[in-house]
Amino acid sequence: MVGHWFHWLSNFATTWLPLAFFGILILTAWLLFKTVGMMPRVRPSAIASRSRSQVTWSDVAGVEEVRAELMEVVDFLRDPKRFQRLGAKVPKGLLLYGPPGTGKTLLAKAVAHESGANFYSASASSFVEMFAGLGAARIRKLFAEARKHAPAIVFIDELDAVGAQRSGHGFNREQDQTLNQLLVELDGFEGAEQVVVMGASNRIQDLDPALLRPGRFDRQMLVPPPDLNGREAILGVHTRSKPLGPDVDLNQVARQTSGLTGAELANICNEAAIFAGRRSDAYVTQRDFDNAIERVVAGLQQKKVLTEKERRILAFHEGGHALMAHLMGSAMELQKVTIVSRGEALGYAFYLPEEDRYLHTKEELIDRMVVALAGRAAEEVVFGRVTNGAANDLEKVTDIARSMVFEWGMSESVSSRTLRADNYALSEETKRLRDSEQALLTDTAYTEALRLLKKHRVPLDRLAAALLERETLMRDEVVAMLAGVEAESRASESVGVPRAVAAGQPGA
Ligand code: ADP
Ligand code: MG
Ligand code: ZN
Repeated sequence: MVGHWFHWLSNFATTWLPLAFFGILILTAWLLFKTVGMMPRVRPSAIASRSRSQVTWSDVAGVEEVRAELMEVVDFLRDPKRFQRLGAKVPKGLLLYGPPGTGKTLLAKAVAHESGANFYSASASSFVEMFAGLGAARIRKLFAEARKHAPAIVFIDELDAVGAQRSGHGFNREQDQTLNQLLVELDGFEGAEQVVVMGASNRIQDLDPALLRPGRFDRQMLVPPPDLNGREAILGVHTRSKPLGPDVDLNQVARQTSGLTGAELANICNEAAIFAGRRSDAYVTQRDFDNAIERVVAGLQQKKVLTEKERRILAFHEGGHALMAHLMGSAMELQKVTIVSRGEALGYAFYLPEEDRYLHTKEELIDRMVVALAGRAAEEVVFGRVTNGAANDLEKVTDIARSMVFEWGMSESVSSRTLRADNYALSEETKRLRDSEQALLTDTAYTEALRLLKKHRVPLDRLAAALLERETLMRDEVVAMLAGVEAESRASESVGVPRAVAAGQPGA
C-alpha cells in the first residue's frame, strides 16, 4: 500500500513534475514574447488608432506602378541605415490620389504591414467637426506619438477634409488652424527621423497648394482605376476564399466591368456570393456574377460603364492621338495611351512633360494642334460623325491658335504684330481678321489630321484593336506596333531653331 503510494510519488517527481514545469515555462515565455512584441502596436491610443495592419501586398492588385513605388518606402522603413549610409534622404510625404475606391487606403495599410512600422492613422474628416483648437491639438499629438515610436507611418486619410483650398469667403478658422498645424508638423521633420507621412485624397486639384510644396506631400502618386488585366487580378483577390463553379470566367467578368474600381469589383464578388447563397448552392456560378454586375452597375449613380459602341469610339479616338503623336515625330513623347477612364476624362493619352524647351517653332505648334485634334478626326474618319468627347482637346487647340495669332505673330497675314484682346486700338476689321486667322489655323490642323489618318488607316485600326483588347498601351508597345510607319512632321527639320536664334541668325 505504502509502496504503491511511494511509487506513484516518485513517478510523479521524476516524470510528470519536470514535464509540467517545462510546459509552464514554455507557456510563460510564449506569453511574455507575445505581449512584448505586440504591446507597442495594439495598445489603443486616444489620439488616433495605432494598429498593426493585416493587409499584405497580396491583397492589393491592379495597381502595379504605385505598388512598385511604395515598395521603396517599405525598403526604407525596414532598413533605414542602408539608405542613410549613402546620404539618401527619407521619402517623407507621400500623397496617394485618385478616384474613390481604387485602393488608396488599402495600399497605405499594406505599406504599414509590410514594413513592420508602427502605423498611426486618422481620417481628416474626423477633425473637421471639432471644437476650436482640437483638430490642431490632435495633429500635434499624432505626430509626437509617431516620432516617439519610430519607425512609424502617419497616415492621414481623406486629406481633402482639412486640406481643401482656403476659400476667400466663408473662411473657416478651425479648419485653417488644423491645416496650419499639419504644415508645421510636416516642416518639423529632420531627415534622420524614420517617420513617413502618407496622405490620401480623392481630389488633388482641390488641395491647398501649400500642402504639395517641396518637403511636404511632394511625392504624389496617382492610383488610377484598373485596366483589364488589373480588374482580372482584383477579381482574383476577392474570390480567393470563395468556391467558384467550373463555368466562372473572371476574364469575362473583367471585360464586362470596364471603368469600375477595386471597391466596386469587391462588391460584385460579394454580391455574386450572396446570389449563390440564396440558392443554397455550394458554388458561385457565372450566372451569379452576371446578376451581380447588373445589380452593382445599376446602383451606381453616374454611368461609368461604357457600352461596347462607346468603347470602340474611345479606342479610335485615343488611338488617333497616339498614332498622330508618332507621325509628328519627337514633338511629344507619348508615355501611354488608355481607354480606362480617369475621373471625368474618359480615355487619355499621356505625354511626358517637355524638357527645358521654351521656344517652339510655328511648325511644332501646328503639329501639337494636329495631335490634339487627331482624336476627333479619328472619330470622323471611322464613324462618319463626331462625339462630345473632345472638349478638352478643342480647348487646348483653341488656346494654342489664339496665342499664335494674338501674341506670337504667327498667322499667315499678320506676322509681326501682337493682336491682343486688351488692345482697344484694334479696328473692327483687324479683329475680324484676327479671328478668321485663328480659325484658319485650327481648321488647317484639323484637315491635316483627317488627311493623315485616312492615309494611315491600317495602323490606326491596329492601335484601336489593341486598345479594345488590352485597354492600356505603354509607349514601347505603341512604338513596336508602329514600326515602319514613317514620321510625317514638318517640324522635324526645324528642331535646331532655338540654337539658330541664340546664334543671332534669323529664325527658320
Ligand atoms: P480608396 O481609399 O481609394 O477610396 P479603399 O482602399 O478604401 O479605396 O478600397 C475599398 C475596398 O475596395 C478595399 O478594402 C478592397 O476590398 C477593395 N479594393 C479597392 N482597390 C483594390 C485593389 N487595387 N485591389 C484589391 N482590392 C481593392
Ligand atoms: Mg480611402
Ligand atoms: Zn482626345
